[in-house]
Amino acid sequence: MHLEEIQKLDEKYYMNTFGQRTPVCFTKGEGIVLTDTEGKIYRDFFAGIAVNSLGYGHPKMVRALQDQVAKITHVSNVYYSENQACLAQKLVENSCLDRIFFANTGAEANEGAIKLARKYFVEKDQPDRHEIITLKNSFHGRTLATVAATGQEKYQKPYRPLLEKFVHVEANDCKALRQAVTPNTAAIMVELIQGESGVLPLTQEYVDTIAELCQKEGILLIIDEVQTGIGRTGKLFAYEWYGIQPDIITLAKGLGGGIPIGAFLAKEKVAAAFHPGDHGTTFGGNPLSTRAGLVVMEELLENGLLQHAANVGEYFQKQLMELAERHTEIETVRGKGLMLGVVFQDEIAKDVGTALRGKGYLVGVVGTRVLRIVPPLVVMKTDVDGLIEALSAVLEERKQTA
Ligand SMILES: *Cc1c(COP(=O)(O)O)cnc(C)c1O
Repeated sequence: MHLEEIQKLDEKYYMNTFGQRTPVCFTKGEGIVLTDTEGKIYRDFFAGIAVNSLGYGHPKMVRALQDQVAKITHVSNVYYSENQACLAQKLVENSCLDRIFFANTGAEANEGAIKLARKYFVEKDQPDRHEIITLKNSFHGRTLATVAATGQEKYQKPYRPLLEKFVHVEANDCKALRQAVTPNTAAIMVELIQGESGVLPLTQEYVDTIAELCQKEGILLIIDEVQTGIGRTGKLFAYEWYGIQPDIITLAKGLGGGIPIGAFLAKEKVAAAFHPGDHGTTFGGNPLSTRAGLVVMEELLENGLLQHAANVGEYFQKQLMELAERHTEIETVRGKGLMLGVVFQDEIAKDVGTALRGKGYLVGVVGTRVLRIVPPLVVMKTDVDGLIEALSAVLEERKQTA
């Protein structure tokens, strides 16, 4: 089908939640290269929002999924599942957590983490401890509880009254955090690098303060690693950069390499709060999605992808910093590993993103001033050079036409 036909169907039948989408429809991908309906090719530095960690058509992923589809895709959590058990082991043994639960999305993983935190205090006979502190400009998902957790007016406004007991504080403001803690605080839930709001890292001092407060007051520390986890920042989990030990972490995006899967992991003493029947899922942890997760984990941990992502990420940031020296329109470059934000002085992010797409490079745009760059972890240094060159050319051309 041609793009116009697809657009017409979408306009007529799909709920208008995405508004005017970017006028492109991809039909296939290989590595980091995508082809659209009109035959144009793009190098993808967005990866379906930090999801396609192995790029497209990764031979090992393709073979594993073909094999799994032919064998069995769904059973039920009434029964045991080999892939689920093996992926559980892989994730637990490579983290500071002891037990896992598989869901299907990031929001669902966070929802489960919130339920677990509340159940933990119910078990401790402290049912009034049900407040959860989250950050302004955070993003935790689109379900009613995770919208309430998300500290952004635009997501909350249409859904008042919100689920109660979420308290939002300014990121990187230690004093505000200390003031927000009450005897009813159950958990502090944060992204270590806020993705959706423009790749904003928390400072070490702030994270240390969170960890100290949690330790002192018996508050649970929940790290939303839906975007930062699974090698995105150059370590398996972003919490490793900060030297902290969260009580719960949540995962999704990159874990399935493009197949929907979510998960939350917890320390034994916390996980023990869930008894049979307290939580559940039909699709979560099915043989297909956990097989995809196993392939991603094997690539990361056994075939050098984690080190590769760390190396290319470091190179990438250095190249962007150099570009920023030559182009003063770039105010700053931030992020870690292959989760990078380019912040402009002026509100030009959208135009720059569109111009880059014209040159065959896909990036994310956040608000008016930030490019969000989250390529597949298999991206090569030569691909990075290509993007830097294209970005440099776009900024040059803007100067000339100004
Ligand atoms: C994307 C994201 C979510 C929501 O994930 P879905 O799979 O869209 O439900 C939650 N938290 C963070 C940090 C995210 O980046």
